[in-house]
Amino acid sequence: MVKKERIGIPRPSSQFLSGTCVKCGTENVFYSNSTEPVKCKQCGEILAHNTGGKIEYTDSLAAEVKRLDYT
Ligand SMILES: [Zn+2]
Repeated sequence: MVKKERIGIPRPSSQFLSGTCVKCGTENVFYSNSTEPVKCKQCGEILAHNTGGKIEYTDSLAAEVKRLDYT
């Protein structure tokens, strides 16, 4: 068995998320650690604020946020 002992890049606990804008119903895909406010691609409504770490959802984002798995 090969040992993996590389000092790698620290893995941030970030992920891609998918959430719906409550204003126009458009589904938006965004990053959980976005460095910019997340805006609806359709109507420009701010769906989440950037906080320097994990984003903070606003009321304009539907309660149910899906995690998108990626490799
Ligand atoms: Zn919208």
